[in-house]
Parts: sequence; C-alpha cells; structure tokens
Amino acid sequence: LINITFKKYQLDLKVNWKISRNESLFKENYICEITDGARVGLGECAPNVRYGESTELIESQIELIQKCSSVVELKNLFGTYSFAHSLECATRDALLNFEVDDLYSYLKISPYQSMSTSFSIPILKKEEIADYVKRNHEYDVYKIKITNLKDVDLVKELSLQTNKPIRIDANEGFLSLKEYLEFENEIKDLNIELIEQPMPSSMLDEYIELKKETRFNIMADESIEKDVDFKELVLGFHSVNIKLQKCGGMENAAELAKEAKKHNLKVMFGCMIETSLGISHALNLSSIADYLDLDGSLLLKNDPFNLISLDGGKIKLNN
Ligand SMILES: [Mg+2]
Repeated sequence: LINITFKKYQLDLKVNWKISRNESLFKENYICEITDGARVGLGECAPNVRYGESTELIESQIELIQKCSSVVELKNLFGTYSFAHSLECATRDALLNFEVDDLYSYLKISPYQSMSTSFSIPILKKEEIADYVKRNHEYDVYKIKITNLKDVDLVKELSLQTNKPIRIDANEGFLSLKEYLEFENEIKDLNIELIEQPMPSSMLDEYIELKKETRFNIMADESIEKDVDFKELVLGFHSVNIKLQKCGGMENAAELAKEAKKHNLKVMFGCMIETSLGISHALNLSSIADYLDLDGSLLLKNDPFNLISLDGGKIKLNN
C-alpha cells in the first residue's frame, strides 16, 4: 500500500519575472510524495496558465490522485484519465523515484553530466541590463526574454554587455513572419546561438517559410508539448525545448528527446520556474541534451531542496 500527498510551496523570485505574456513575483508549485513507509519518491508540479493549468484544475485532479492507495490503482487511473501535464509530471516522477533504483539504466541513457546552463534575463528596462549581467557574470550563455520587434534594443544592449552566446526567447510574441524577419535583420551580426518560439504555435505555415529563409537556429518551445508529430515539427524548426512539466516527466521527456534526435532536431532540456527538485530531474537527462536551460531554481530566493549548484557556468547535482 502507498500513501500519496501533495504539498503546496510558494516560491519567491529574485526578480520580477516578466515575459511576453505575463509577469509575476512568485510561483506556486506542488510537491508530490509517494511512500510505502520505507521508500519515498518525490516529484514536482509547476502549473502553467499557458496550457490551461489553473489552480482549481490542479487541486481537483490532486484529490483524484490522492485517493489511490496502491501503485496498480494509480497506474490504472493514469491509463483512464487525462491529467494536467505538470501534475502528471509530478506524479510520474515521484512514482519513478519510488519504484526504480537505477534511473539511468531504466531510461536507457548514460549517467548525467554537469553542463553549462543558460541564465535567463526577463524583460527589463534597457538601462538595467548591464547591472543584471554583471551580477550574474558566472554563466556561459544568457537567454533573453523579449516581446517582439520593439525589444530589439534589449538584445543589442545585451550583446554590448557580454561576449558570450545569446539565446533569445520571444514566447510567441511576434504575430507575423514579416515583423519577425525585420527583427532578425536587426540582429544578424550578433552572437546568437538560437531563437526560441518567435511566433505563436498555431503559425506552423509561417515557421515552415521561416526555416527556408532564416540564418538562425529556430527552436520550438510552446509548439512542443506531450504528443508531438516530429515529421511535421521538423519542417518548421531546427531544435526543440523539451520540458518535463510539458510532457509528463522524465520518462516521456527522454523518449521525446531520442525521437527528436532521430529527426535531426537538436534537443534542449528546459524548465519552468521550479525548485531544484524538478531541475534535478531534468538534469538527470543531460547526457542526451545538446543544450540545457535549467536556471529555474537559480531564480528563486527560497529553494526548499538545495539539490543542485553552479560550478563556473555549469550546473551540477549536489550529493
Ligand atoms: Mg521558452
């Protein structure tokens, strides 16, 4: 018999987390614990409103999950009912940690390796960027959030403040291909490693056009969730941002990454604002990553788990 509990955490951010669709000073996540009294498995749920994951929805689904008193019952529930992906992530990862001793051989991947992570720059005022980069100078690569063409000056300012590679994330902010291409023209000589989800996920036709014209590495984030048609996705993108919270946990994320590579897509493991518990789960998969963007817990004032740390710009598991 097992006991499943969820605990809600308020996670305070070090900065005002402003991206193209919203801004916030804190995040509320849930930690799932599965135990039989002897073994314990933990997993994290970081709900995202972009995917319709309201507090009401998550908390009503938590009630269903907590009624399960055996692993078989829990697995049956997951076979018959469709859960919010972030809640599925928490529960499946808790169960995996509860049941499996050797995660790497279970997932058929090499052990984790410490690797550089990008560090995110939310949408700031232009004059705040120099100080933000100075205070966070240890990272090997930065990822700047923008809204659309009007933020091109933020990217130019960042490139004046660092020689390190820059990743750009527009979170679907460009509403036409024409506007995006104007932006690209403005930044064509800068040290840009990749550009994440410039346009809405619904604009696949525009992405297909863009892939023919662009000089940059275009990465899908909001365009990839749990069930992915890679044959279609590869027509519009060069790379994918796989997040455990979007795809239901470590096991599915590892499967998606292997599948993406078969289609010649590069793989980044990314994250939401989450504690080092969720980050450590993504870091477990680093041996099959081309890039990591796992700064979620590094943006927190109060990480309750302390499972990861930075070594230079590289992120590693504590033990
Ligand atoms: Mg993104």
